[in-house]
Amino acid sequence: STATSPVAVEKMDNNALFGKYELGKLLGCGAFAKVYHARNLSNGESVAIKVISKNKIAGSNLMSNVKREISIMRRLRHPHIVKLFEVLATKTKIYFVMEFVKGGELFAKVAKGRFSEDLGRKYFQQLISAVGYCHSRGIFHRDLKPENLLLDDNGDLKVSDFGLSAVTDQVRHDGLLHTLCGTPAYVAPEILAKKGYDGAKVDVWSCGVILFVLTAGYLPFNDPNLMMMYKKIYKGEFRCPKWMSPDLKRFLSRLLDTNPKTRITIDEIIRHPWFKKGYKEISFYD
Ligand code: ADP
Ligand code: MG
Repeated sequence: STATSPVAVEKMDNNALFGKYELGKLLGCGAFAKVYHARNLSNGESVAIKVISKNKIAGSNLMSNVKREISIMRRLRHPHIVKLFEVLATKTKIYFVMEFVKGGELFAKVAKGRFSEDLGRKYFQQLISAVGYCHSRGIFHRDLKPENLLLDDNGDLKVSDFGLSAVTDQVRHDGLLHTLCGTPAYVAPEILAKKGYDGAKVDVWSCGVILFVLTAGYLPFNDPNLMMMYKKIYKGEFRCPKWMSPDLKRFLSRLLDTNPKTRITIDEIIRHPWFKKGYKEISFYD
């Protein structure tokens, strides 16, 4: 019957989504997701909708894991985390309806030139505030990089897709896409070792790479040859530029400690002299 044909499923998708939202222009395009600007028809407000195709997704318990994670994410309320409003899922697609963030990617801004230590510190404080908040609720990002950090109208940072990497990993596992996409430059050495890892520790490592990029203007571990890049990450081989303050150099060596057991923790980060300067505990309600 027509009810099970691919065409009928597409129509159901459209009805579920377009009764509530008017889809606008394409904002960004990832390896397996497209993000659109959209308007909420009930109040006229702007939202961003991320559409993930799950062509080959199986029935399994996969979707229930994904739904549990999403329900936690929907409860995350933090000034530096992109808010997830709702998730619509159909047979072929997952739609993440999110807060619309106007100012683009932090990546684009740092690509124009490195930041002063003070500006780097401001973004890093906002990042750590968001990451710490999520860790305390058992949510790990696992794909932190400047491409996933957006800027709002006030020039404040918003972490995008918090926890979605776990969800999209699951989609990948189910056969949609097995190719590793994006730059591996932010991956912690223990992930490369493939012996299991602590989600909090790998996020701290990625935050270290991000801080290095913001203040140095280039990646700490880089090589045109992927295997050589992995080798450098594995060895924790990086050199800080001459102009960096000794405090920041020491701080980076604690963030980019290849041993996850001795690597600095979020609580220790917040007490570190370089981090603390001008830090006001970011206030929010839960
Ligand atoms: P992928 O997982 O495929 O990388 P992302 O969620 O990172 O997809 O989104 C791709 C791009 O779309 C982002 O890099 C950003 O430029 C844009 N984008 C994503 N979410 C939003 C949002 N909430 N508001 C504005 N732009 C967004
Ligand atoms: Mg992304």
